[in-house]
Amino acid sequence: MTLETKLSLDNSEAIHEQSVADVSLATPSLLPAFPRKPLNTTISNCPPSGIRRFFDIAQTMENVISLGVGEPDFVTPRRIREAAIRALDHGGTTYTANAGLLSLRKSICKNLSERYNAHYNPETECVVTVGVSEGLDLAFRVLLNPGDEVLVPDPDYVSYAPCIEFAGGIAVPVPTSAKDGFRLHAEAIEAAITPRTKALLIGSPANPTGATQSREDLQKLVDMANQHDFYLVSDEIYDRLTYLGEHTCLGSLPGARDRTIVLNGFSKAYAMTGWRVGYTCAPEPISRLILRMHQYTMLCAPHLAQIAALEALDHAEEDVQAMIADYALRRRFFVDGLNAIGLDCGEPQGAFYAFPLIKSTGLTSEEFAERLLMEERVAVVPGGAFGKCGEGHVRCSYATSMSQLTSALEKTGRFVERVKAEPGNSRNVNVSEPVTIIAENHHA
Ligand code: PLP
Repeated sequence: MTLETKLSLDNSEAIHEQSVADVSLATPSLLPAFPRKPLNTTISNCPPSGIRRFFDIAQTMENVISLGVGEPDFVTPRRIREAAIRALDHGGTTYTANAGLLSLRKSICKNLSERYNAHYNPETECVVTVGVSEGLDLAFRVLLNPGDEVLVPDPDYVSYAPCIEFAGGIAVPVPTSAKDGFRLHAEAIEAAITPRTKALLIGSPANPTGATQSREDLQKLVDMANQHDFYLVSDEIYDRLTYLGEHTCLGSLPGARDRTIVLNGFSKAYAMTGWRVGYTCAPEPISRLILRMHQYTMLCAPHLAQIAALEALDHAEEDVQAMIADYALRRRFFVDGLNAIGLDCGEPQGAFYAFPLIKSTGLTSEEFAERLLMEERVAVVPGGAFGKCGEGHVRCSYATSMSQLTSALEKTGRFVERVKAEPGNSRNVNVSEPVTIIAENHHA
């Protein structure tokens, strides 16, 4: 089997079109005057994603090496694409059951049971969604009443807080730090709990840090949820991309199942971002409401994408293993490379992101990302886009070719040296925080 990367397909036009459309929608000055009743204040007050902004700028420039977008550079494995083509030829163009094809739900639940010892009934406890994105939206709409608080790690994935707020909730950041591998400490959670705390969101492995939470730490959080009576939402989209230790499915831990919504999907492990398919697994009373919401707002996930997902789960393990092996090589090469050019980078244990500290350059993460893009044409995302605790870092996705990574490291190294040598740059003296490089067998 050979791995095919996106560069081998000419999809640049599609990406360009998408980016132009997004820019024109996102730029208020291009909109006509709109003297009518104000639009929804929660959505109006929500700033556009910091990831998207840098991606849009990079799209307007030539010869940019993009480490900015969290997307596999592989195309969906051939056998998955072929299953969808066959299904299309046979008329797989209709709606499916609201909860998704039962065959797919059975395969999802079998997989969770065999892989992680997490047990869900495919008939009543699993809903196929339009990506984990829809799963997040559904989870918070089902759990929250106006003013309910949800604890979220800081830094975290850019969609978490907006999804919580769109559902009427309040996102309460819980600080984490590179010093201990972005561990989610029970004490930090405890300090953030109020009578309005309704849920805790956990992403492990995490975007943007690549951190994973250990089984022991997760168990402490579950115990705390039982003690204080709050729900758990577990985004496990990067479960298969775990390089150190083993992934723990939150729903498998003692005491967790009744108060946990597990979210997962096919975008990352199977390189299926454009197919838009994911799922929720949760106890029946929660799943019933998830299905009610999904039934009225989405009806069902795309039929062909569900057939492709079924093929992925049942027959694409070899392809997944090949992609994981490739990411693991790139991860080692890139993380070592960042440390070699003087950007302290702890060991990301999962996903496909490195989150180096850039404080030694004396720049803010926004300045660093902007100047690196303009001066060296390397696109990374400023850590501040992921929360206050992300400041001083940048997120680099290593889901790109070795040659691009090599070139990105060369250019970034040159940039770092130049910035540090700039007259007046005194902030690089004694400001670098030591990062604990986590031992290979410790998954914090
Ligand atoms: N959760 C995390 C942590 C992500 O990084 C992403 C995408 O980057 C998503 C959810 C959304 O995934 P999907 O493509 O399944 O909607």
